[in-house]
This record gives sequence, C-alpha cells and structure tokens, in this order.
Amino acid sequence: MHPSFVLTLLFTLALLGSLLLKFWLTTRQVRHVAAHRDMVPTPFQATVALPAHQRAADYTVTKARFGLLGTAFGAAVLVGWTLLGGLDALNTLLRDALQPRWGDLGYQLGLLAAFAAIGGLLELPFDLYATFRIEQRFGFNRMTWKLYLIDTAKSVAVGVLIGLPIAALMLWIMGSTGRWWWLWAWGAWMAFNLAALVLYPTLIAPIFNKFEPLADASLKERVQALMARSGFAAKGLFVMDGSKRSAHANAYFTGFGAAKRVVFFDTLLQKLLPGEVEAVLAHELGHFRHKHVTKRIATLFAFSFAAFALLGWLTTQSWFYTGLGVEPSMRASNDAVALILFLLVVPVFSFFVSPLFARVSRRHEFEADAYACAHADGRDLAAALLKLHEDNASTLTPDPLYVRFYYSHPPASERLAALAPSASS
Ligand SMILES: [Zn+2]
Repeated sequence: MHPSFVLTLLFTLALLGSLLLKFWLTTRQVRHVAAHRDMVPTPFQATVALPAHQRAADYTVTKARFGLLGTAFGAAVLVGWTLLGGLDALNTLLRDALQPRWGDLGYQLGLLAAFAAIGGLLELPFDLYATFRIEQRFGFNRMTWKLYLIDTAKSVAVGVLIGLPIAALMLWIMGSTGRWWWLWAWGAWMAFNLAALVLYPTLIAPIFNKFEPLADASLKERVQALMARSGFAAKGLFVMDGSKRSAHANAYFTGFGAAKRVVFFDTLLQKLLPGEVEAVLAHELGHFRHKHVTKRIATLFAFSFAAFALLGWLTTQSWFYTGLGVEPSMRASNDAVALILFLLVVPVFSFFVSPLFARVSRRHEFEADAYACAHADGRDLAAALLKLHEDNASTLTPDPLYVRFYYSHPPASERLAALAPSASS
C-alpha cells in the first residue's frame, strides 16, 4: 500500500472512531443526567433544592446536545479542508496570487491568515448561539451585542499583533535554519509560551477586563493572614469584573515567579461568605504550593518537543500532504500548508489520550483541596464548592465515563467526599 493511502485510511478511521466515541459519551451523559433529574442525590438532599438540581440538569443536557452539533460540524469542516480539497484549493489560489508579488513568506503568512479567518467565521454562529441563546436562557449571559463586537475586534487585533509575528518567525525558522529547524522552532515556541505566561496576566488580560487589588478591608485582612501563615508574599491578589460578561463565578491562578497571581471574579465575592472566599483562596494557594503551573509547563515542553520532531519529519514526506488532500508545490515552500495540516489532524489522534491529561488535572484539584483543608476551614471549602456548583448550574450527577474524558475538575460528589473527614471534624 502506498504511504499516502495508509495516512488517508488512518486519518479516516481515527476521525470516525473519535466521532463515535464522542457521540457515545455525550449520549451517556445526557441519559445519565436526565435519569437523575427528578431526585437530588442523597448526600445533597439537605443542601440542594430540587428546582436548582433540575435547572443544572437542563443546562448540562442543553450544552451537551449543542456540543454534539459543534462536534459534527467541526468534523465536516475538517474533512472539507483535507480530503475534500478545501485547503488545496485555498492554497493554490493564494500561492498563484501572492507568491509572485510577496515572495514565499508573504504568501505563506497570507495562507495562515486566511485559514484562521475562515475558521473564525465558521465558528462564529456557534459562539453566538451559545452566548445569546443558551447562556441567556439560563440567566447567565450579561454580554451585550456592543460588548460582543468590541471583544471580537480586540481579539482580532491581539491575534494579528501577536500571531502574525510569531507565525512569521516560525516560517522563517522552518525555511532558513536547515535540517534541524524543528529544534529551533521548538525553542522559539517554548520561549514564546514562557513569555506569554508572564505577559498575559499583566498585558493581555487587562485589555478585556479590569483587575483591581482586593478592596474589602476585613476580607483583605483574613486573606493576608492566610497568605502569611501559609508562607506567601501578600501580593498578587486581584478582583476581576467577570460580571461584565457572565454570571458564572470563578477563581483562578496564573503566572509564575514574580508574575504569579490569584484572580477572583467579582461574581464569586458576591456569592461567598468571607470564610468561604478564604477557603477558595487556600485552594488556589495549594496549586502554587504543589507547583502545578511548573508541572504543566514541563509537560508542555516534553509534548511539544515530540510534536515538533514529528512535524520536522512529516514536512519532508510527500505522502503527508497528498494523504491529507493537498498537492505539495515544487516551486514554493510548503511549510505553511504543513503547519495547518498538522494543527488540523493532531487533535483527531490526541483525543484518545485526553483522559490521561484530564486525570492529572483532577488529581491536582484534589491536592489543592487537601491543601485548603490544612490551611483553612474544610467546612467553608465544602460550602463554597456547593454554592459554586449550584450557581454555575453544574450537574451533581454526571456520567462517570464522561467525567473521565472531559472533566478537568472532579465532580462535586467526589470532591466533597474527599473533604468529608476534615469538614466534619
Ligand atoms: Zn483548582
């Protein structure tokens, strides 16, 4: 068998397999949630009211069904780009139009930009429906059309200002540094990721949201006491105006070294009592103490090294292009095409290993919870988790197998069960 045909076959099988798996998992999730819709699970009967439980079930089912539509559409677009010749057509068009005038680099940047723009436009209706229909229906959306347009304009501007130079650098490395280009490209990509980790919280995120130091004096005192007794410098604690777009409440940590910070959504501070806020902060500090950011970066280093090495080899194989529906050019560089094909095809295969990553992430959540119990009140953390679950309409009864594939955070029942020994003492 010709290698080009083998690739087409492998790709088709992986795509069909991942589609079947996704449909099966979502069907399980929808059935499981619907089957438990009419009764609050026993451990929560004293704390969660039936209407809230049913609202969470409806929200979960609606989102899961809509997600399936997106999955099916995404698969159709993927086949359209590859086996049905969409990328080949776009590539031929832009190569003939741009390469004589702008040279290899100009043509390739044009191709990447066109591909990104078309992809963004295709996704737009889904994003609009999710925001203005689903989130609206369940009372979460606070986004206005005006804000949506402003956000989109800002995202495009940021994407162009950051994406184009990075893409140009990558293409230049691919074209000019010889056989071992992928090592250089990997180094550049890692440097970019590290820079982004430091610069994103301080330069990019403030373009979209306001970040202010925590103002509430009594809460601040509690929080500083917690940070002092668990050995953190009492800075880098911010409140973000998340309520501008959504009623969903959240807290997250980001950055490393001097740039690390904990961010509370204002919606979270409105909903939780001071002791509960303290417990949530202790959880986020747990992520720092266990070096979860550093571990994530180390994983990224390792996996992207393998990915770049693979890409370095694939770019030199003509079957990599023809097997995915693109005729490589003899007269122009094929690097941009290779990048696009790689980005399109890798997720189809990597979906099968996604449970491994989700599992590590869930383990990190348990570690952070345990840390929070040791440094704050476990009962407060349990109360906060329950409130956040209810307010965000997260289901208490997800399908166990669906959780394994998709959940970055353990379901409430598991988290609360793990807290139980310290929460009851
Ligand atoms: Zn966490």
